[in-house]
This record gives sequence, C-alpha cells and structure tokens, in this order.
Amino acid sequence: MVTRQPIVSVLGHVDHGKTSVLDRIRGSSVADREAGKITQHIGATEVPMDAIERVCGKLMEGRSFKVPGLLFIDTPGHRAFATLRARGGALADIAVVVVDIQEGLMPQTREAIRILRQNQTPFVVAANKIDRLHGWDTHEDQPFIVSLQEQTDEVQDRLQEGMWELIGALHDEGIQADRYDRIDDFTKTVALVPMSALTGEGLADLLLVLTGLAQRYLEESIQADLDAPGKATVLEVKEEKGLGPTLDVILYDGKLEKGQTIVVGTSKHPVATPIRALLKPKPLDEIRDPSDRFTDFDEVMAASGLKVVAPDLEDVTPGAPLYAVRDEDHLEEVREMVASELKADIKLADDGVLIKADTLGSLEALAFEAKDAEIPIRSARVGNVSKRDVIESSTYNEPEERVIFAFNVDILPDAKEALREHEVELLHSDIIYELLDDYEAFQEDLKARLEAEARQDIVFPGKLLFLRNHTFRVSKPAIFGIRVLSGRVRPGQRLIREDGRSAGTVKSLRSGEDVVDEARAGDEIAMAVAGVTVGRQVNEDEVYYVDMPGSDFKALRDFDLSHDEREVMNELADIKRDEEPFWGM
Ligand code: GDP
Ligand code: MG
Repeated sequence: MVTRQPIVSVLGHVDHGKTSVLDRIRGSSVADREAGKITQHIGATEVPMDAIERVCGKLMEGRSFKVPGLLFIDTPGHRAFATLRARGGALADIAVVVVDIQEGLMPQTREAIRILRQNQTPFVVAANKIDRLHGWDTHEDQPFIVSLQEQTDEVQDRLQEGMWELIGALHDEGIQADRYDRIDDFTKTVALVPMSALTGEGLADLLLVLTGLAQRYLEESIQADLDAPGKATVLEVKEEKGLGPTLDVILYDGKLEKGQTIVVGTSKHPVATPIRALLKPKPLDEIRDPSDRFTDFDEVMAASGLKVVAPDLEDVTPGAPLYAVRDEDHLEEVREMVASELKADIKLADDGVLIKADTLGSLEALAFEAKDAEIPIRSARVGNVSKRDVIESSTYNEPEERVIFAFNVDILPDAKEALREHEVELLHSDIIYELLDDYEAFQEDLKARLEAEARQDIVFPGKLLFLRNHTFRVSKPAIFGIRVLSGRVRPGQRLIREDGRSAGTVKSLRSGEDVVDEARAGDEIAMAVAGVTVGRQVNEDEVYYVDMPGSDFKALRDFDLSHDEREVMNELADIKRDEEPFWGM
C-alpha cells in the first residue's frame, strides 16, 4: 500500500472563481520547468509535493508531509462534482468550496455544502477575491497571513467583517467555521482561507491547509494498492476524432494496463471490454500536430486522470464505475461489483414523480432532498430527459405526479416535442433547491386551478331578494327581477325559502337581452324559475337562498370564501338544521 494523492474537487457558485483558482494553481508552476512540475491530466491537475512546497515557501518550513501531492479535478462548470462517487462514497477525498467574499453564500454554494456533508467529505472554504476589498494593497503571490500584515487597520477590519459574515452564513447552515489560522481542531471547525485567484495571495495558505488536512485526517482513505486492478470513476464520455467514444476517468485505486479487460457501468447493463489505449495529454510544447495531442501509456497508476479508449462505450454515463479485471476468472465477480455500484440508493414509491440527473450521485442527492421535502419518487434514472420519460410521466395517475425533475441534464428534442403534446410538467435546473421551489410553486398553482375547476361543479352560497314591482311572468316559468344580496347563483340550482320550503329551480338568468350563466353579489337581473307561481310559493320582497347538498357545504369549508359568503352559509345551515340537525356536519 502507498499513500496516493488525495483527490480534490473545487466547487462553488458560478463566477465565484473556481476556474480561476485552478488556473492559478496551474499557472504558479509555469515559470519553473524543473522536476516536480505541475502536470495536466485528463480532467485533473496534479500538484506534486515539491511544487506545493515551492508555492508555500516559508509557510511550510519545519513541516514534512507524506502526501505525494494533490490531484485537483478540473471543473468544466456544468457537472455536479460534489456528487461523483467511488465505491459508494464520494470520489473526492476533500473539497474546496470557492466563495466570493463580497457575495457570500449563494444557492449553489449551499447546495454544494449540503452534498459534501451528506457524503461526509471534508472541505475548506476559499474566501476568494480579497483583492477586491476596498483599499486592498496587493502583494502578488504572498501567503495571506503575510499580505494581511501589510494592510491598513481599516482594510484588515473590512476583511474581518467579510469573514464574520461568512462565518454567520455557515453557522445558519449548521457549520462551525473560522479563519484557518485561528483554528485548533480542524475536525470540528471548517477552515476559511482568504485568497485571491487573481493575485495569487492566499494560494499558499490554501495548499498548505489542504495538504495538512489530507495528511492528518485522510491517511486511511488515500491508501492505494498500485498492483491491484484499477478502479476509476467516469467523468465524461467524449467523442474523439479518429478514436470514437472515449472515457475521461479519474483512477483512484490500483492500475490500468493496455489490453486488460475492464467492466464499465452503462445506462443498461455493465459492459466488459478490452482497453485499446490509455492516454494523457502531451505537454503543450511537445504537440507538433493538433491531432497528436495525447501520449499513449502501457499502464497508469492511481491517482490519475486519463482517457480510456475501448470498444462498446456508447451507453456509458458520467459518474459510472470502471473496474479492471485481473483475469477472466474474476470477470463475473467484477461485473456484479459494478452492477451493485450502479444501483441507486433511492427508495421508490408506487406513486410519485419522475426524476432525472446527470450522474448516479446527483440522482441520489436529488432524491435525498426530495425525501426531505416529502416528495415521493416513482421513477429515478440517470441521463437526459427523453421522449420515453415524458410518455411514462404522462401515464401517472395524479397531476402532481405528472412532473419530471431534471437536474443537471439536457432536454432532448423529441422530449420537447412530447412535452407539447402531453400534460407533463417539466422542472429543469442545475440547482436542487430551485427544483424543489419550482415544485412547490407548481403544486400551489395546481391547487388553485383544481379549486377553480371544482368551483364550477360545487354549489356556492347565494342569497337573493325578489325585487318589488319586477314580476314579468307569474308562472311556467315564473320570471321576476332579483338582486343578489351576497354570493352567487347559477341556472340549474334550487332555491330555498327562509322557512325551509322550496322556492323552485333556477331555469335561466337574463341581464337585459343577454343570457348569463351566473349572477353575483350586487347584480340585478331577471330570473326564470320553474316550479313556482308568483303570489303563491314566491312573493315580492322575499329572500331566498341557493340550496346545496350537505356534502358541498362540507367541501366549502376548505375554500377561500368571503366573509359574506360564510355568513350566507351559516344562515342556510340554520334553515336546513331545523329539519335535519346534523346537516352538513
Ligand atoms: P467560476 O465560474 O467559478 O469558474 O469563476 P471564474 O474563475 O470563471 O471567475 C469569474 C470571474 O471572476 C472572472 O472574470 C475572473 O477573472 C474573476 N475572478 C476570479 N477570481 C478572482 C479574484 O480573486 N479576484 C478578482 N478581482 N477577480 C476574480
Ligand atoms: Mg468556471
């Protein structure tokens, strides 16, 4: 067993400086072409220990580290790196959460932190862009603690204010944090490292804290057996000119050899396939021809980022496990290992929504948050939203289940078309919180819509006055003028007198020449009523109520009615309960 480089992922809100931090780390070695140079891998950047020592300079004096360096996963921006897995846990051994010190925690930052905690991945917060603090006096590439001494008291206070705000915001997330140089116990307190990716200030401190944490707390998880068959996680599936589909992977244990059989997870079953080539990028100055960008290796050891070329990779998905097979006897065993890693740890319900995400890990992260929000999931799959998903969702029973949560994925053109034809709600975001918020809004809207629909069927309270001198016809049907005192009335409804006897059935409503299908409080209109004769069952100046079944009376309790409408309901209930004491209860 040897101690390999810890795998570091860099996360954070868009534009807070993830790419710049990585660029700065890479850039800090460009001047130096000697041994120990920082090397670019596929999807990763390796910073060897002597490069870290060089950057850290005095900060590191008197300390020695067994960790051979750090392997940073590069962030193309759209992938949820916090969710990439290896052996059921997180692929990254440790993470850097980049936060713009002036903007503080943003939704994506909070989400990254939640996922890191879910996976129990230790992390450091880089409080970036300190050079933007008003009055900051830049000392290019100096450690933060050195540069800080050069700042005026006012600027130091300004920095500390930013720190307090961050510490407070993290506290709200249930995290204890402090500036790294004030921490005694790094297992209890998350380290904040003030820095600037633009000026390089604080980069030394960041590398020192990461190395220190890795050394002290990750020893066990970064032991690798370099003779064992390799284990890797797929970052991306990429079509390369002349090579066909290839896999960009992070190898975190063992070694991969050319010609060896590997088993890789796909959207269907794991595939077993022989390695045709293992590639790493050539240093820029060695590329003579743009088609000759890679160096071919016979074997590659952990930890490393590399490109794997092999047949039958079409259905491989990002985040999938890739295991090398020692010999043919072990093929079935490895196949089962890969298959079991491909099973998402998500409890599905008989009824619920459909969720899609870019990787197994992000699918699980979404499912975890959905469970927290009490949203049942009926189906969960990795991959872009397809027509099949839309069709499946459209067959679900309830409208609140006919919803697709699309996290960090694309909507395929045939799915877009299907969405136009089917009543399926698509919620699409690369932030889990947004999906949950959107779902809540959708549910609210749905409830309002259903209520409005139900209102059409349900009988609403109504109270009417027979207007004096407005009898137009005495019977068959009786036609007379009314004023709606409160509530509303519609044709087809039955009317009841204050003494509980029937006042006929509304046949039609007419306002001037127009036939209307509803009259509301304040309206004065002509009403045709079947089953009554003016002067007998109905008379001028009388008041009538719209009659309703007891079940509607009960249902109306959940509706948003006006004070007047409630009043009318109570009056009606009093009338009905003279005959039927438990009416509407
Ligand atoms: P990402 O979206 O998190 O990868 O952010 P980028 O690294 O692309 O940075 C977003 C913007 O912020 C770019 O314009 C960077 O030049 C700028 N930026 C990043 N880090 C710093 C910093 O430390 N100081 C200043 N002043 N600007 C920075
Ligand atoms: Mg970026």
